[in-house]
Amino acid sequence: MCTQNSLQKFYQDKQRIFLQCNTCKLISVPTENQLSPADEKAQYDKHQNNPEDIGYRKFLSRVFDPLLKQISRNSLGLDFGCGPGPTICHMANEHGIKVCNYDLYYFNQPELLERQYDFITMTEVIEHIADPKLLFVKLDTLLKREGLLAIMTKRVMDIQAFSNWHYKNDPTHICFYSIKTFEWIALKLEWRLEVIDKDVIFLHKDNH
Ligand SMILES: [Zn+2]
Repeated sequence: MCTQNSLQKFYQDKQRIFLQCNTCKLISVPTENQLSPADEKAQYDKHQNNPEDIGYRKFLSRVFDPLLKQISRNSLGLDFGCGPGPTICHMANEHGIKVCNYDLYYFNQPELLERQYDFITMTEVIEHIADPKLLFVKLDTLLKREGLLAIMTKRVMDIQAFSNWHYKNDPTHICFYSIKTFEWIALKLEWRLEVIDKDVIFLHKDNH
């Protein structure tokens, strides 16, 4: 996440090695342990979600419901990394809120990354991104002043929990965040961190 590059081994299993940064505490998988873009997309194609899936909507409501309490009806959102079956846009539309869909593989409309938004959602996205620094700097430019970034990802607890963690076994998961890493990001970008629940955090661009 940072550019310190003071990485040390955090954990290793039969498939991959997991390194932790001493500065930002991000845990990541080295490039040689990452999938090619084609193999990565093949994995995503296997689990296609769709907006009619009640279970999927319920899952997303963990980020969408608290978000809805904090945004106004005329705000504009971006679902960054919406995947093949964008669903948050439908949930938002039901409340009269417009959300644009962007996804590198499924909705690659670069012009959407030239505008600014009142809020951005990233559900189960950042664990797949190889260059989080580039991503967060970009997100900062995409967010309006007072904007809100809503993130869902499972968080790293400790080494004990990590060793038994199914989440780390998904070959498309290459970065793992803890509260410490989110605190570090918030500090660097002068955002304010709000912890919503065990998998959901909000980052506020207002910082006061
Ligand atoms: Zn770092």
